[in-house]
Amino acid sequence: MSMIEFLPEVADFLNAVQGLRIDGQRVAAPETIAVINPSTEAEIARVASADAAHVDMAVAAARQALSGPWGTMSGHDRGVLLWRLADAIEARKDIFGQLDALDNGKPFYKARDVDAVYSARHFRYFAGWASKIEGRTIPVSEPGRFNYTSVEPVGVCGLITPWNYPTLMVAWKLAPALAAGNTIVLKPAEQTPLSALYLADLALEIGFPPGVLNVVPGLGGTAGAALAAHKGVDKIGFTGSTETGRRIVAASTGNLKKVSLELGGKAANIIFPDADLASATDGAFWALFGNNGQSCTAGARLFVHASIREQVLAGLIQRANALSVGPGMARAAHDLGPIISQPQMDKVLSYVAQGEAEGARRVAGGHRLDQPGYFVAPTILDGVSDAMAVAREEIFGPVLAVLSFEDESEVLARANATEFGLAAGLWTNDLSRAHRMAARLQAGTIWINTWGDTDAASPFGGMKQSGYGREMGQEAIALYSQTKSVWLGIKESDLI
Ligand code: NAP
Repeated sequence: MSMIEFLPEVADFLNAVQGLRIDGQRVAAPETIAVINPSTEAEIARVASADAAHVDMAVAAARQALSGPWGTMSGHDRGVLLWRLADAIEARKDIFGQLDALDNGKPFYKARDVDAVYSARHFRYFAGWASKIEGRTIPVSEPGRFNYTSVEPVGVCGLITPWNYPTLMVAWKLAPALAAGNTIVLKPAEQTPLSALYLADLALEIGFPPGVLNVVPGLGGTAGAALAAHKGVDKIGFTGSTETGRRIVAASTGNLKKVSLELGGKAANIIFPDADLASATDGAFWALFGNNGQSCTAGARLFVHASIREQVLAGLIQRANALSVGPGMARAAHDLGPIISQPQMDKVLSYVAQGEAEGARRVAGGHRLDQPGYFVAPTILDGVSDAMAVAREEIFGPVLAVLSFEDESEVLARANATEFGLAAGLWTNDLSRAHRMAARLQAGTIWINTWGDTDAASPFGGMKQSGYGREMGQEAIALYSQTKSVWLGIKESDLI
């Protein structure tokens, strides 16, 4: 198979053991993490693994940076730096694309044209916000009092990210946190630390003061836990599983730091019989198989009206069998890459087995591909019922569960019968039904006749156990800011 050649910058990056990035320095650590290419199962790099003492150093550097030039920098100047960072990411999108294709395994073209390009857009959007963070003057009722608010950064923010979109998940948090004037200690997922480290170097190169962005790759139970519990951290912005989210909240109680959580999901996607079936089938297919099912918003529970089930199912199977799956760095533009790791692949395959054991019918895929790498054939399970594990639990892999329904109120109740509430969607040409359902589905994002759209300008986050806080849009600025209320007593003048 023909592979894309490494860019010189990428080859150099992979050859050097990557140190932690603390206070503008590269810091070695006694422990290292082997970064594995899930497309080949080979080790591609070694990265220093932070322990609690390194997290202490990074938090101290971030605290110190708050009282350096960054702390007094105008919003305008922070915006200029963020805009420059956006330009730098875009100019190096091939490098980011290769780094994410290597440690995550996703197709290079998608890593470059989606993940890297959307990350750049994200920084650009929040560059605009940096100079527009304003307080209010408030007409209080007490005479002789003047009241106003100022909006200030929270302080030192610990950002903890998952592996499914290595650059983009960092951008989602980092851009608003920096726009609001915070300093950062970032812990990327242990499987995908490369682009976060590269981004730290880039930020330094284009003029962010040392200590503003510190990156401490490491294990969740060590570096992540130390960050979540650290008394010098003012806020944790976390994206990951609901289970880890609970641990973060528990760890945060020592200093009652602020916490925002973007957690897991089990999104319901509903096709009504009045929908445009060709686009609904296509949309529902990519709602799950986009990013190989490794998306928090994956449309994992597909409810299809009984009257159109056969037709939709045939379209889904045909699409699944036509998908091309291959290494992230293949020259051929594959649709999907591998699963992130052996344990995650094993988990996905065990869900398929459990689904079949509970009575679901496997109509596509369900097996590991006979080649190196953690590849699983795109899988469809038909005849799934609400009680099955594959309908209740987040699989986070290329497994679509198809369920059937008879009427609107029934499917609404079943769609909402989950502990998650990140996203939901429906396909219909009935405008009233679309609005009725959008109002009643319990999820932070609703897609109607589309799926998966996100935009730096539009708030994103979960209801129920999918988390709290909204990233993106002006809500994200609020998430990384705090409001101060200032009162001034005004003396009566002799003139009055
Ligand atoms: P995860 O296991 O929860 O890990 C997420 C991050 O937390 C990683 O950096 C991990 O480090 C770290 N971590 C693990 N244990 C920790 C602890 N005790 N204290 C502090 N940090 C800890 O999730 P994942 O498997 O990487 O990602 C998949 C999950 O993320 C899915 O549930 C998915 O739905 C969710 N997700 C949600 C969104 C959203 O926006 N709502 C977006 C993407 C993904 P290690 O890498 O060392 O384990």
